[in-house]
Amino acid sequence: MPHRIIVLGAGYTGAIAAGRLAKRLRREDVAITLVNAEPDFVERVRMHQLAAGQDLKPRPFDEMFAGTGVEPRLAKVTGVDVDRRTVAVVDVNGAGELPYDTLVYALGSGWNTQGVSGTAEHAYEIASRPGALRLRERLARLDAGQTVVVVGGGLTGLEAATEIAEARPDLDVALAARGGLGDWLSPKGRGHLRKVFGKLGITVHEHAAVTGVEADRVATADGRAIPAAVTVWTTGFAVHPIAKATALEVTGTGQIVVDGTMRSVSHPDVYAVGDAAMVMGPGDKPLRMSCASGTPTAWQAADAIAAHLTGGKLPNTSIRYFNQCISLGRKEGLIQYVTADDRAVQAVLTGRLAAVYKELICKGAAWGVANPTLGLPTRRRRVTREWAAAGSAVKSPA
Ligand SMILES: Cc1cc2nc3c(=O)[nH]c(=O)nc-3n(C[C@H](O)[C@H](O)[C@H](O)COP(=O)(O)OP(=O)(O)OC[C@H]3O[C@@H](n4cnc5c(N)ncnc54)[C@H](O)[C@@H]3O)c2cc1C
Repeated sequence: MPHRIIVLGAGYTGAIAAGRLAKRLRREDVAITLVNAEPDFVERVRMHQLAAGQDLKPRPFDEMFAGTGVEPRLAKVTGVDVDRRTVAVVDVNGAGELPYDTLVYALGSGWNTQGVSGTAEHAYEIASRPGALRLRERLARLDAGQTVVVVGGGLTGLEAATEIAEARPDLDVALAARGGLGDWLSPKGRGHLRKVFGKLGITVHEHAAVTGVEADRVATADGRAIPAAVTVWTTGFAVHPIAKATALEVTGTGQIVVDGTMRSVSHPDVYAVGDAAMVMGPGDKPLRMSCASGTPTAWQAADAIAAHLTGGKLPNTSIRYFNQCISLGRKEGLIQYVTADDRAVQAVLTGRLAAVYKELICKGAAWGVANPTLGLPTRRRRVTREWAAAGSAVKSPA
């Protein structure tokens, strides 16, 4: 019987892990199933573009994985039983169960309301495609002069505010940030951000901790009421509650605790990658939820699983930051270079060149999903008989 590998979630990290496993292992030895709730790959890093009215290239999984040895499975994951090694799913045929020998958990994250009152009822999110489409439809119905307030001064908030302001110069776009605008960036980076925000006519409310959202305004901790026909909520991401409901060791926020090979510290036949995993990065700091740091976690997990199953050497993928790539609409961008542990250094790239650079990064990320060994040769290894027969009894690292 082939060793059954189930990958949950076909976002950037799950899709890369599945494809890379297929390139590392002999087809007759493994059955690799990639479970996802949507039939095509969602370029999540472009959700602000989708919300602002741009159309994204469709990328159906059936085409993407045709002939690769990965079997895409359209289903919603509703639970995982790590003791019985089964995944509960719902698909067009109803509820079912998928047994696994090795599980890769890559369900990503969604928006994080942080419990702020009125957010779930009145605010729009762009952490998911359905959310971005809902906002797109709402923006299309706004009349000139109406106000859009983007709450959150992080990378997603900056990208959303500039994208909307550029696409709809007739609207009155504002950003509410808990701190100063881009206060973690270098002086040059901050300066550029202010210049672009000024040019696009975006009002910036700094030191504005939003404490409530209503249908037509947001309220701040210092008593301000900012008018908002539409509120876009971008204050970080939260993981789905599925892992927390299992016996897996998770953090307080529900991320799966893994070792340096992305293997669960409590259940060795489970690996977690991307936003769903709590991974310590350089400087002993947890990795920020991002495509940039999630992609190497997928490489690491796939190569570690392949090494365990084939008796190969355990890999050690270096995970570090190089830059923060921020789109500021389609014509402007900011590339802030950073230290290995994500602290801004002086160097930045700005302007149209930075916009082109960011576009290449987004294209490259989608290309990496379709080409999971990133130019490395395909080397399919045999799953050793002892381990394949032992099902999930994968040997521990030496
Ligand atoms: C607007 C925006 C801009 C961003 N820009 C950047 C950027 O410039 N650079 C950067 O590094 N990061 C960026 N990010 C963050 C980045 O998108 C995420 O960190 C990244 O997508 C995480 O990858 P993942 O594979 O862990 O999860 P995801 O990409 O979220 O994939 C999870 C997958 O699991 C599926 N799924 C979820 N729940 C279920 C379920 N119950 N059943 C079945 N399937 C399910 C989803 O449909 C999805 O396909 C941005 C995010 C947003 C929202």
